[in-house]
Amino acid sequence: MTTDNISTPASAAVPDRTPRRVRHDVRFRILEVLRVTRVTPHLVRVTLGGDELEGFTSLGFDDHVKLFFPDATGVLPRPVMGPDGLNFPGGRPPMRDYTPRSFDAAARTLDIEFAVHEAGPATDWAVRAKVGDKLGVGGPRGSFVIPMNFDGYVLIGDDTALPAIARRLGELPTGAKVTVLAEVDSAADELTFETNADLTVHWVHRNGTGNPLPAALRAAQLPAGDIYTWVACESGVAKELRAILVGEKQLNKAWVKVAGYWRRGAVATHDTHED
Ligand SMILES: Cc1cc2nc3c(=O)[nH]c(=O)nc-3n(C[C@H](O)[C@H](O)[C@H](O)COP(=O)(O)OP(=O)(O)OC[C@H]3O[C@@H](n4cnc5c(N)ncnc54)[C@H](O)[C@@H]3O)c2cc1C
Repeated sequence: MTTDNISTPASAAVPDRTPRRVRHDVRFRILEVLRVTRVTPHLVRVTLGGDELEGFTSLGFDDHVKLFFPDATGVLPRPVMGPDGLNFPGGRPPMRDYTPRSFDAAARTLDIEFAVHEAGPATDWAVRAKVGDKLGVGGPRGSFVIPMNFDGYVLIGDDTALPAIARRLGELPTGAKVTVLAEVDSAADELTFETNADLTVHWVHRNGTGNPLPAALRAAQLPAGDIYTWVACESGVAKELRAILVGEKQLNKAWVKVAGYWRRGAVATHDTHED
């Protein structure tokens, strides 16, 4: 594991808000499904376990692992480590990015939460997952650790961002001012977050097809002072939200991190929106 600071630390008078990037040795693990929980109509939590979880590390709330899904015959090949990373000599199985929602080193369990949408190898696997099924997990390759000393935090996203948002809310200190804007299909998909933070949540509903996050963001009152803002959702929407945050809300770009966690009409995408 190696650690880099992204820029020179600030002087003592100004709080050091330098994010820390930590690289991890890439490992591939085959894990076994221990439990499947339908959290809401559109969110399935799969608890994975196994001795191969030994040494698993995830330090950042928006870390991601690569999940590798068995083929139609149930076969999950084990890769070899090549110079460019994991190599599947017989052909790579379907692979998608997911957030390690929680990891319990003592119990050796890893929770992954899957947003359920129409179809795709990940969604199809998650809705059918049962105890004893196998899943390949690669990484995380690295973690981006955001300091806890901002005046406030804004977390925005759709169902795919809920695992990272819930994880961040679980780790923020008592009294931290946080505003969450979360898009789900309907009230039945809303979660109760466990947090010590001073939290304001705006749930917005797409009711099948809508795009409610931009209007909700325009209307939202954000915490005052130096705030760190994190966004993850459909890529086109994420780009639109960034324009509102930076252009209309005049937030400091250095503290606005925006990702497209999926792209309408495309498979397995990960977009970063910046200048
Ligand atoms: C860093 C990172 C972390 C992520 N963490 C999570 C996580 O913890 N939980 C989670 O659920 N997702 C997460 N995602 C998003 C997830 O990887 C994508 O939604 C992925 O495309 C799902 O794979 P699939 O096989 O179900 O669908 P794909 O085969 O990739 O796509 C099939 C079709 O479905 C569409 N589609 C994909 N995702 C959605 C969606 N959410 N809603 C509606 N349509 C969709 C695509 O545009 C495509 O048309 C993360 C993505 C990234 C980049």
